[in-house]
Amino acid sequence: MSLPHNYEMVIGLEVHAQITTQSKLFSGSATAFGAEPNTQANSIDLGMPGMLPVLNAGAVDAGIKLGLAINATVNKTSVFARKNYYYPDLPKGYQISQYDKPIVEHGNIDIDLPDGTSKNIRITRMHLEEDAGKSIHDMGATNVSYVDLNRAGVPLMEIVSEPDLRTPEEAGAYMKKMRTLVRFLGICDGDMEKGNLRCDANVSVRKIGSDKLNTRCEIKNLNSIRHVMEAIQFEAERHVTVWESGGEVGQETRLWDPDAHETRTLRSKEDAHDYRYFPDPDLLPLNLKQERIEKIRATLPKLPDVLKQEFLKMGLAPEQAGLISSDKDIYDYFMKVPFRDVMPREIANWITGDLFAVLNKSGKDITESPVSPEDLGHLMNNINSGEISGKIAKQVFATMVETGDDPSTIISKGGLSQISDESALKAACEKALAANPEAVAKYKAGNERIFGSFVGFVMKETKGQANPELVNTLLKSLLA
Ligand code: ADP
Ligand code: MG
Repeated sequence: MSLPHNYEMVIGLEVHAQITTQSKLFSGSATAFGAEPNTQANSIDLGMPGMLPVLNAGAVDAGIKLGLAINATVNKTSVFARKNYYYPDLPKGYQISQYDKPIVEHGNIDIDLPDGTSKNIRITRMHLEEDAGKSIHDMGATNVSYVDLNRAGVPLMEIVSEPDLRTPEEAGAYMKKMRTLVRFLGICDGDMEKGNLRCDANVSVRKIGSDKLNTRCEIKNLNSIRHVMEAIQFEAERHVTVWESGGEVGQETRLWDPDAHETRTLRSKEDAHDYRYFPDPDLLPLNLKQERIEKIRATLPKLPDVLKQEFLKMGLAPEQAGLISSDKDIYDYFMKVPFRDVMPREIANWITGDLFAVLNKSGKDITESPVSPEDLGHLMNNINSGEISGKIAKQVFATMVETGDDPSTIISKGGLSQISDESALKAACEKALAANPEAVAKYKAGNERIFGSFVGFVMKETKGQANPELVNTLLKSLLA
């Protein structure tokens, strides 16, 4: 995707990530997804007078984690502020957010581009804020809207990037990386379909070579990576058309309509002063002790970029190292496979080959894999130890998928162990030669290619269970 007329895109993303806490940012109400409307909203979430918010320490810890993971400054003091606006799904008349003193500032992440290169993107800030409720306009009855306040007060991180992104692909890669990061940190499910990771895309265009920041439009609430990319492409093309026709792009908040494949004006852009931000008098400034930050630093898991390097060192192919270090579910599966240290590459191959084929066919996710990581590891070990051949392993694997049995049960039930008993194999080899005197004569006359037919005979005779290396050696010595 690109732009005509020597233009380039300038893109900055504001990602909203729902923090996986049991309770809300300032109240004890549950945050579980899918509950009956308005069953998870108490008087704090409803903005009843006289109710005081109490900050959720777990949400703060999650924010610190993110700050450390993106090499940012975690501010020792940050301040919660009221962002004032009226909407039926915001009964308080204000959203508690952070404004000029956010908890995290000046970070950066490396995004992984489709061509295998990476690019560093600066992150301006991350602040904590509460979500609003949800207005429902399409419940059947005309002229009636409903309000569900279950989501009101759910903790969010708003992660704001610098306008460093230049293409829809870079924006997509940024979202992917952010999703991977929060999932590895265990602070957000990153499930865009459920809306617990979504973003606003700010887009402007300029002539290549210029470093001017032109007027931007903000496209609200994009809830899939495809929508992010398509909306940015559409919006940038729209800007080029406006500028090229001598017009002027106006600063606006817009919405993406995926069906019509276009962005539309929602409202002309509001400015910060429209919101009358002021420090929330019900909440003290958030003061963090260095000890608390260090304690959290010590609990940080290994992050995707580090994991990728480790997997490459273990001998994984670059695409596999990239895949396993960027998908938390695949990573979790891989890390549970026993004997991973002995044969990492083979196990990665088996996962991205045979296992993925089965999952694709049945439309299942790796978390619902019919083959457990433990069983897969034991199967691989059976190959490695010579118990079964690679070929028989495919057969055992198919039975594992079908029956859910573990590999050793399948191998012993089916009598599938590899035959490495020399005397038994020697007898089969002798039989192969005795049954094919003409082929033996041809071989001895110099036709070496016919050797394969003896191996084939022995394999057939042993139902594929003969140890192929041993068969080779035995046949060679019998024919010498
Ligand atoms: P607001 O709070 O009004 O949304 P911010 O200054 O926080 O404004 O910026 C929001 C986002 O817009 C940031 O991600 C920033 O990188 C991006 N941005 C700022 N200027 C431009 C521009 N000219 N073109 C594209 N993105 C921009
Ligand atoms: Mg904004």
